[in-house]
Amino acid sequence: MKTILSIAKRIRMEFKHIEDAQKKFCDCITWLQHWRRNNNTRVRPECSVYFCSNKATMGGIVVNCDKEEEMYVTPVCPKHYPYSYIDHFQIKKRFIKLMVSVKELEGCGCQ
Ligand SMILES: [Zn+2]
Ligand SMILES: [Zn+2]
Repeated sequence: MKTILSIAKRIRMEFKHIEDAQKKFCDCITWLQHWRRNNNTRVRPECSVYFCSNKATMGGIVVNCDKEEEMYVTPVCPKHYPYSYIDHFQIKKRFIKLMVSVKELEGCGCQ
């Protein structure tokens, strides 16, 4: 998380969805739940994609286009669903801070 933040300060990072990221390390039922638990919020967030203000309906699994090894969860709306939205995109700054690694366990209560 710290690494991704410091990169974000230098350049405008681009992200893309990873379509097949079904492997879960915790017992969260959805990726949006995983994101919420680790951000300690019950609020349904807005879509984290830059310039989009729709309500998020699911958690998308994304990677930094320059550094694909680490997968993160970020909230997305139906327009930016992983299965249909294949373009690269930017994520709102305040949501970059809130991105949660798919392997994060502490906030899920699974450590
Ligand atoms: Zn979880
Ligand atoms: Zn959106």
